[in-house]
Amino acid sequence: QIEARSVGKKFGKFHALRDISLGVSEGEFLSLLGPSGSGKTTFLTLLGGYEPVTSGQLLLEGQDMTNWSANQRGFGMVFQGYALFPHLTVAENIAFPLKVQKRGKAQIADRVAQMVEMVGLDGHANKKPKALSGGQQQRVALARALAYEPKVLLLDEPFSALDKNLRGQMQEELRRLHRELGTTFVFVTHDQEEALALSSRVAIFNQGELQQIGTPAEVYERPANRFTAEFLGDIN
Ligand code: ATP
Repeated sequence: QIEARSVGKKFGKFHALRDISLGVSEGEFLSLLGPSGSGKTTFLTLLGGYEPVTSGQLLLEGQDMTNWSANQRGFGMVFQGYALFPHLTVAENIAFPLKVQKRGKAQIADRVAQMVEMVGLDGHANKKPKALSGGQQQRVALARALAYEPKVLLLDEPFSALDKNLRGQMQEELRRLHRELGTTFVFVTHDQEEALALSSRVAIFNQGELQQIGTPAEVYERPANRFTAEFLGDIN
């Protein structure tokens, strides 16, 4: 579905990413895993079209999307800090992308109700984000990103601000949503366990280079190099 061909990204003289080639299949749950500064977030922003690539090519279903805007790509995005609209209620936050798409009122209301239920926020639809817990806010962000049924959802460490317990719950929820919707998920994390537990495949980054890509079993049992072995060996 998505293909990166020799993608590179420089900020000034600094090479944030070098020669990244990988494919993401439809319905896959791909994690981008690596230490801080390895280029995971940068790669996600290139996929989403929020930053231009410096070199290489990005394809969507075989079409060259390298120069498409974020809007033209139409992927959903969930960030670390939720980025909800503070002055809008839960329902209005979820409705926002649907209004931008100029969907009918009745259709929007139906879809919002469906999404509120899907992420377990019944009874909270008319609250403002600040009246919700961190986990609930992250559920709103997920519901908002999924409301218009994007083909691909990009997630940047969505649970990093949550405590361990809540994090486990949200991981479970994300797994369920992925199973139910069949949407392609590309998920950035620096947490080895999280990546291995959630994904169908893991892409391991270090210092702007792709070290290895494979199923959790493949990368864990047959690390391609010393970095991967040590990085995955850190799990306690
Ligand atoms: P983290 O888990 O800490 O977010 P990451 O793997 O997502 O790390 P990136 O955020 O992609 O890493 O950053 C990769 C490198 O690129 C870092 O060294 C960072 O300082 C640099 N970088 C990222 N964005 C910019 C920018 N807009 N301008 C200059 N340098 C940048």
